[in-house]
Amino acid sequence: MSPTIVHWAAGSSYAGTGDRTSEVTNPATGAVTGRLALASREDAEHVIAAAAEAAPGWAKTSLARRTAVLFAFRELLNARRDELAAIITAEHGKVLSDALGEIARGQEVVEFACGISHLLKGGHSESVSTNVDVHSKRDPLGVVGIISPFNFPAMVPMWFFPIAIATGNTVVLKPSEKDPTAAIWLARLWQEAGLPDGVFNVLQGDKVAVDALLTSPTVQAISFVGSTPIAEYVYQEAAKHGKRVQALGGAKNHMVVLPDADLDLAADAAVSAGFGSAGERCMAISALVAVGSIADDLVARIADRTRSLLIGDGSGEATAAAGDGDGREADMGPLVTQAHRDRVESFVALGESAGAKVVVDGREVTVRGGAGDVEAGFWLGPTLLDHVTPQMEVYREEIFGPVLSVLRVETYEEAVALVNDNPYGNGTAVFTNDGGAARRYEADVNVGMIGVNVPVPVPVAYYSFGGWKRSLFGDTHAHGAEGVHFFTRGKVVTTRWIDPANRPEGGLELGFPRNV
Ligand code: NAD
Repeated sequence: MSPTIVHWAAGSSYAGTGDRTSEVTNPATGAVTGRLALASREDAEHVIAAAAEAAPGWAKTSLARRTAVLFAFRELLNARRDELAAIITAEHGKVLSDALGEIARGQEVVEFACGISHLLKGGHSESVSTNVDVHSKRDPLGVVGIISPFNFPAMVPMWFFPIAIATGNTVVLKPSEKDPTAAIWLARLWQEAGLPDGVFNVLQGDKVAVDALLTSPTVQAISFVGSTPIAEYVYQEAAKHGKRVQALGGAKNHMVVLPDADLDLAADAAVSAGFGSAGERCMAISALVAVGSIADDLVARIADRTRSLLIGDGSGEATAAAGDGDGREADMGPLVTQAHRDRVESFVALGESAGAKVVVDGREVTVRGGAGDVEAGFWLGPTLLDHVTPQMEVYREEIFGPVLSVLRVETYEEAVALVNDNPYGNGTAVFTNDGGAARRYEADVNVGMIGVNVPVPVPVAYYSFGGWKRSLFGDTHAHGAEGVHFFTRGKVVTTRWIDPANRPEGGLELGFPRNV
């Protein structure tokens, strides 16, 4: 009997009242490892109420105390990150080193939030008028909702909750139903770090839970990350209910390789960014644009590297169980579910029938053994498609799997037009040795995050993460200064104190005050 994974409210597990559940699987073995309680509307209200009860007390807690809890959380996470990485690998499938990388990027936001006092300083202007001073401050919003996707069960929530908590809000996190255990582990870690009960809560579930957050009058703001159709829905629905909302959506990220680029560097980057985490990254490179005559050479180098990747169970046990003696960890794990694997595979056939050349075919995958029944896992190998055109479905749709498409163009202008005509605008990269060309690319593309010889340009925590066009609904990006702005509301206070030794002549004044 697999364990039931439940909600977390007011500092303890909450089983909920609903009887709907869903299965959580280990993608490397196909085994059902847990049953997830899917919230009913009443369950959602219970969890939101726990956050609401804790909100006034946490908002009034001193900055020194709040940041002390953040520092404690950071220390605990550093000490116990291997536990969290194992949970991520067991439910998501990514290899352990990648799970640790995800935790490290999330930890960066915790560290940024440890210094929140500096970012919450307001402005002060003295004597703006006689005896009148003005100061500004930023207050917490109250209860905020975070709704996250399956592909980063720790990092994506951590883009938001360290800042939300540091700025004095209370949180309801609704993780993906595909890998929900990381959220509960994080809730327990917060408790151990000394966070008061009710400040961080977890609501498990599907659309019912999401809709409860979007429509609840208690919830003040929503941070969402997921696919574009759901991001758009969340944005509209939350805005309709008067909430502040940032909804980050899907992506189709182009890597443009100019003719003067270092082709080995570009090939390494394309393989790492295309197939890392089995392509299940919103900043993965899925379209490689080869400019000019380099295409044949570049595709050959990418193909060689792609064929050398080791596919296997991402948990540490895989290496030991493989028994092939080289001790090498798998480069790429399985896809998250059987249904997602089958959808991604269907794109390979679609591309082939539309005229793309399958240079490396991930449908013929050899999987190195791990714990359990590897045959039943959700495997698909890295796939390289060449001669893809902008009209093909394999280019138009977000695939979100290990499928890298190569498009060939003659000129820089054609490459830029391709990037800008695409409805998404999350990330892009240009590979070149010409600084002037890179500088021009940076100005020419309508994309939120740009890498120059960097294939996955995820900003560090003190900058903000977010795309343009249909990759982001709302106008505030995640973390950095924009994150602090999102989780706080400004107040401006105008004060007048009269010097008792120098009282002005009194008198009524019904007109506008004169600034003298
Ligand atoms: P998803 O949109 O299916 O799910 C995201 C969240 O929305 C989950 O918590 C899910 O429970 C909920 N949800 C799903 N269907 C819903 C519905 N009909 N109504 C209300 N809520 C619903 O996304 P996913 O498959 O978990 O994640 C992959 C997607 O996320 C990809 O499109 C990827 O590009 C995107 N993503 C984007 C970023 C970014 O920063 N822009 C980062 C990570 C992932």
